Amino acid sequence: MGWDFETEPEFQAKLDWIDDFVRSEIEPLELLPGLHPSDSSNTRLRSVIRRLQDQVKAQGLWACHLGPELGGQGYGQVKLALMNEIIGRSQWAPYVFGSQAPDSGNAEILAHYGTAEQKATYLRPLLDGDISSCYSMTEPQVSGSDPTLQRTTAVLDGGEWVVNGEKWFQTNAQYADFFIVMAVTEPEADNPYQRMSLLIVPAGTPGLEFVRHLEVAGESSARTSHSYLRFTDVRVPASSLLGERGGAFAIAQTRLGGGRIHHAMRAIGRARQAFDMLCERAVSRQVRQGPLAAMQFTQQKVADSWIEIEQFRLLVLRTAWLIDRHRDYRKVRKDISAVKVAMPAVLRNVAQRAMHIHGALGVSDELPLAAMAHVAEVMGIVDGPTEVHKIVLAREILAGYEPVAGPWPSAHVPTRREAARLKYAELLEHTIAAF
Ligand SMILES: Cc1cc2nc3c(=O)[nH]c(=O)nc-3n(C[C@H](O)[C@H](O)[C@H](O)COP(=O)(O)OP(=O)(O)OC[C@H]3O[C@@H](n4cnc5c(N)ncnc54)[C@H](O)[C@@H]3O)c2cc1C
Repeated sequence: MGWDFETEPEFQAKLDWIDDFVRSEIEPLELLPGLHPSDSSNTRLRSVIRRLQDQVKAQGLWACHLGPELGGQGYGQVKLALMNEIIGRSQWAPYVFGSQAPDSGNAEILAHYGTAEQKATYLRPLLDGDISSCYSMTEPQVSGSDPTLQRTTAVLDGGEWVVNGEKWFQTNAQYADFFIVMAVTEPEADNPYQRMSLLIVPAGTPGLEFVRHLEVAGESSARTSHSYLRFTDVRVPASSLLGERGGAFAIAQTRLGGGRIHHAMRAIGRARQAFDMLCERAVSRQVRQGPLAAMQFTQQKVADSWIEIEQFRLLVLRTAWLIDRHRDYRKVRKDISAVKVAMPAVLRNVAQRAMHIHGALGVSDELPLAAMAHVAEVMGIVDGPTEVHKIVLAREILAGYEPVAGPWPSAHVPTRREAARLKYAELLEHTIAAF
């Protein structure tokens, strides 16, 4: 059985290439104002991104979250984690490496559940980076944490689904060529988790309206692409159903498992960025007594941050390793929930410490730290809030415990001592006699 913390030299060479490529080619691109990587109307930007994507493809690093049958490399989650730690430094890098949300998750469910026609129309061009997509689940009027409360409906009428309802915080909706929409199609189903289905709705379908675009604090408005959508008698063919009727919740879980661990891998990169900024400032900024690095309060920030990042990284890598072993996200649900809970806390703590040590500069928009701290808040809400993941984690852990038969806990010392006396009665007799 192998247990190794070293990376193979061949793969390390690829990681070094990614590191250099992200630093020199992608990070400068995302500093330019008014651009969004999904904006296909900007043909010059499109050709720049295409050129960068071609370089990634030439290195065999395109869409590495996918298996080889879908054009990925089939590296598995551990190698993907090492890659995503680097890619996570940049908001644009996932677009250049073919792994950006929500397209990556949408491609996964299209690959698993799509019909041949859906794969040809949507999956292939999505994987090639020719089109982009949106995942439409959350609604403004009900709690997004509980999908059984959803109100958007889809009813079959004359061979077409007719969709009515509202969705909001729809990432990438502005640029999406199609939407994967969750709607109630089986209102009478006994199991509330079997009432919803997924439907593919092409952009521009009559009745699909943008109410407004929502800005999330910490994101520059040029990058913001979370929209409030209204569906009024939106008609799509019956063949737009993705997966089984009533199967939306189960399908969504397949998608979310991968999404959560991939976000966590990228969060390591962001936390490390904040940590590097913390340390650089510590050794650079002078006060009367010397550099901030000489102050014990600063040293505590550095030590705590390093430990939290390394603990989190090990948890992510171990979970990635478990996914590779089991090849089923559902079997690693507990571990993924633990990662999901730990992720916002680590990023928030490290970004806040780095922000604080930079003083006024830290809280300004001249450094990315305030935005990182805000991203941490978002991470604690999307893909299931922290509270819900703690419930899942605790439930799964507690399922492995049995109640004690008697009145005392199994670790109760007098009870155990009595049992020990009986087991070693002969030894005790001999010892007492010897004294
Ligand atoms: C930047 C961003 C991008 C997003 N992108 C998308 C997207 O592309 N597609 C999409 O469909 N949605 C998207 N969302 C929406 C996101 O999925 C929801 O915000 C999330 O599911 C939470 O739902 P809610 O906002 O309705 O909060 P609520 O469900 O109302 O929860 C609010 C709070 O209530 C508490 N809470 C909820 N349930 C429990 C519980 N069981 N126990 C204890 N406490 C609880 C938690 O503190 C939680 O944070 C995005 C959101 C953001 C911020």
